[in-house]
Amino acid sequence: MYSTMQDVPLTVSRILRHGSTVHGGSAVTTWTESGPERRSFAQIGTRAAQLAHALRDELGVAGDQRVATLMWNNSEHLEAYLAIPSMGAVLHTLNLRLPADQLCWIVNHAADRVVVVDGSLLPLLAPLLPRLESVEHVVVSGPGDTGLLKDCRARVHDYEQLLAGRPTGFDWPDIDEREAAALCYTSGTTGDPKGVTYSHRSVYLHSMQVLSAESFGLSSADSVLPVVPMFHVNSWGIPHAAFMAGTSMLMPDRFLQPAPLVEMIETERPTVAAAVPTIWQGVLAELDAGGRDTESLHTVVIGGSACPPAMMKAFDAHGIRVVHAWGMTETSPLGSLAHPPGGLTEEEEWPYRISQGRFPASVEARLAGPSGEIMPWDGESTGELEVRGPWIAGAYYGGADGSLLRPEDKFSEDGWLRTGDVGRITPDGYLTLTDRAKDVIKSGGEWISSVELENHLMAHPDVAEAAVVAVPDDKWGERPLATVVLKDGKGADYEELRAFLAERVARWQVPERWSVIEAVPKTSVGKFDKKVLRRQYAEGALD
Ligand code: ADP
Repeated sequence: MYSTMQDVPLTVSRILRHGSTVHGGSAVTTWTESGPERRSFAQIGTRAAQLAHALRDELGVAGDQRVATLMWNNSEHLEAYLAIPSMGAVLHTLNLRLPADQLCWIVNHAADRVVVVDGSLLPLLAPLLPRLESVEHVVVSGPGDTGLLKDCRARVHDYEQLLAGRPTGFDWPDIDEREAAALCYTSGTTGDPKGVTYSHRSVYLHSMQVLSAESFGLSSADSVLPVVPMFHVNSWGIPHAAFMAGTSMLMPDRFLQPAPLVEMIETERPTVAAAVPTIWQGVLAELDAGGRDTESLHTVVIGGSACPPAMMKAFDAHGIRVVHAWGMTETSPLGSLAHPPGGLTEEEEWPYRISQGRFPASVEARLAGPSGEIMPWDGESTGELEVRGPWIAGAYYGGADGSLLRPEDKFSEDGWLRTGDVGRITPDGYLTLTDRAKDVIKSGGEWISSVELENHLMAHPDVAEAAVVAVPDDKWGERPLATVVLKDGKGADYEELRAFLAERVARWQVPERWSVIEAVPKTSVGKFDKKVLRRQYAEGALD
C-alpha cells in the first residue's frame, strides 16, 4: 500500500523561497576591509533570482551545466549557492588552496562553463585560465585587478553589472530531487581528486539534520559564524541549513587570521561557530591573552580532524562549549556529533565529548574487521568504519559524460561507503576514531594510534602542535616518529616529553624518534599533512 502523502520534491529552491520570505529579516553579514556589510535574507533571495536570470539569459546557462565558484565565504557566494542549483544547474565549489594542476584538472573534469570568482582571487585564477578548456565566462565579484584577464579567451563580466536591472523574481523550475545540486571534489591526497555530487534531496535532508538539537542546534535566534570555507564540503552544510532556519550568518570572507576572527566575534556577536582545529589554535592564543569579549559564543563545532581534548578544555575555560563532529566530503559531511547523553555530571560527560560522537538516525554505521567481518559495537573491537544513508555518496562523478565511478576500495560489495577511518563504537553508538587506515602505525604486529599520541602531546604545556607518523623500523616494521611544535620560548626536552607520554600510554608505544619542527605542514583544508612529514623523514630532513 502506498502512503496518502503528497510527493513534494525536496529541493534547494524550497530552501531559497522559504528563507527569503519567512525569514526575510534575518541577515548575512560579510566582513570586509571597510567593515561589516549586511544583506537581509530577502535581499539575498532577490539577488539570487537576478543572478539566475543573468546566468540563463546573458550567459546561456542551461540544463545541468556546471557553474563553478572560486570564492571566500561571503554574501555573493551564498547567492550563487542558492541560485545555481535552484535554476537546475550544478554548483561546483572550487577549493582555492589546491595546487594549480589539481584545480585545472578538476575544472576540466567537471566541464565548468562559468566561473564566479572573488576579485581578490583573480591573481590565482588568471594564470590558470588558458588551461581551463570548458570555461566560457568569468564573473568577477568585488574589487580586483581585472587587467589580469585582458588576454583571456573567456568573456569577462562584473557580478554587480550582470545583476543590475534584472527581474527580482525567478520562476524556479520543478526539479527531480535526485538530480545533482552541487559538486565537490575530495582533495586528491592519493591520485586524482574524486567528485561527489550532492542531490537536492541529500542537501535538504542534511540541512534538517544540521539544524537538529543533536547536531548544530541552529535556530532563528542564533547567529552562526562558518569559518569552515564554503568550498570545504559546503561549509559543513551551514549555509543551506541557516537559510532554512533563518539563522543569521557572519561571513568572514578572507579574514581568517585569529585577530580579525576575534574582532568579528566581539563586534557581531555570533552564538555558534565552526571550523577545523587548526583555525582555533590561533584564536585560543588571542583569547588566552585576555581582555576579549566572546560572551555571545556558546558553541563551537570542531571537526575535519580529531579535536585535541586539550583544545576542548581551553574553550571550556572561556565558557565556550566545543561540539566534536566527524564527517567527510562523501558524507555531506555530517556523520556523527559528540553530544553526551543527558543526566551526567561534567566529569561523566567528558569521555562522550571527546569521542567523535553518535550517528544520527539517517547515518547507519558498521565496523569492518581485517577480512571484512562485521565487528561488534562493544567499545573495544576496532575496524574500518563503513556508513550508508540518504546523504552518503554511493559513487563518484565520472565526468561530463555522466558516468559514475564505484572504486572497489571505496565501496563494499553491498554498497556501503568505506571511510578509510579506523575506530571502535560503544554499545550506545559513540564512535572513537583511532586513526585513518593509512596513518595507523603498525609496530611489531600491534597498532599504535597516532591520534592518541598527538592528543596527549598537545596536552603538554610546552607543546603547541604535535603530529605523529609511522616510519620504517628494522626490528618492528614501523615505529612512531613524534614531530612537535613548541610554544614560543620553550626548549625541547625529549626526556620530559617521553616521560609525560609514558604516564599516559603503554610504554612500548612511546616514540624513540623525535623532531622539533617550526609548523606542522597542512593540507588545503587545514589538516595535518602526514604524507609531507613522512616524505621529509625519508629525505632525512627531520632529525
Ligand atoms: P580529505 O579526505 O581530502 O582530507 P575530507 O574533508 O573529506 O577531505 O576528510 C575526511 C576525513 O577527515 C575523514 O575521513 C577523517 O579521516 C577525517 N576527520 C574528519 N573529522 C574528524 C574527526 N572529528 N576526528 C578525526 N578525524 C576526522
